[in-house]
Amino acid sequence: MAKMRAIQVPYRKGPFELVERDIPEPGAGQVRIKVQACGICHSDVLVREGLIPSIQYPRVPGHEVVGVVDAVGTGVRRFAVGHRAGVGWHGGHCGYCDSCRRGDFFACETARLVTGLTSDGGYAEYMIAPAEAVAAVPAELSWVEAAPLMCAGLTTFNALRNSGARGGDLVAVLGLGGLGHLGVQFAAKMGFRTVAIARGQDKEPLALQLGARRYIDSQAEDPGLALAKLGGARVVLATVTNGDAMAATMSGLAPNGMLMVLGAAESLRISPVLLLSARCAVKGWYSGTAVDSQETLAFSVLAGVRSMNEEFPMEKVNEAYERMLSGKARFRVVLRMS
Ligand SMILES: [Zn+2]
Ligand SMILES: [Zn+2]
Repeated sequence: MAKMRAIQVPYRKGPFELVERDIPEPGAGQVRIKVQACGICHSDVLVREGLIPSIQYPRVPGHEVVGVVDAVGTGVRRFAVGHRAGVGWHGGHCGYCDSCRRGDFFACETARLVTGLTSDGGYAEYMIAPAEAVAAVPAELSWVEAAPLMCAGLTTFNALRNSGARGGDLVAVLGLGGLGHLGVQFAAKMGFRTVAIARGQDKEPLALQLGARRYIDSQAEDPGLALAKLGGARVVLATVTNGDAMAATMSGLAPNGMLMVLGAAESLRISPVLLLSARCAVKGWYSGTAVDSQETLAFSVLAGVRSMNEEFPMEKVNEAYERMLSGKARFRVVLRMS
């Protein structure tokens, strides 16, 4: 049997191991992708640290996967050998439960499939995915450009386009890291009056370069007050993982404004008075399904949105992972498989 190289986590909290495995065969309704690049997302910590008890080991992480379809199982339509393809967090759905029948595939009740978590992901030369979890990847994007758009890009793009904000509205993006630097670009290219909020004056030139009209240094001024002075935000897209930093923007929401939470903060304390006096809302957003990924990629090509990336060969996975954890990467870390 032909062999491939894969990076697995052997057990909960175990080290990454570069191992040789049999190249898997796609079953009915599945495709096999020859992986070209895979982003390292902060959520990969869930696999490495075993933060979800149901994870079975050894497990190959990775849910920002792009490559070429090189085999398809029976019954697969739409995708064929040679197609450029990508897989994100959403690892498939059943299609027949009540959530799926409503079109809420993300909330599938029978098949909570997550790429690189309930099945092996993209830190490998090949991976298997159900066809419904696969997105087409346009030729205009290089592999390394496309990979981070499969999770970081999808999450920010899909949250913004479902936030209710309309062209010309004031939209603030809180945080200028892996998610935030994409969020600012998407918001600006969608035609929102985009404000970036981060810590430190040194990030202002970058924020403006990415398309923000205004930068708020949350160390120098109160971000809620600063937003209110600008007329109030229709939406604050919170990409940070600090609940206090999120809460500090709430007073800057316009009437009917919304705090859209993307960062998995431990807790979030908000003032009910703020909520009811301005009829504000707090909402979370799930990244999205394959068609959302496809539309994220298409919009990125159309509008010129690109992730800034640091690239590592798969052999340097430890260095790459540490770089992601350090929070110092500018801005996404991507593994190359070939
Ligand atoms: Zn992710
Ligand atoms: Zn379902």
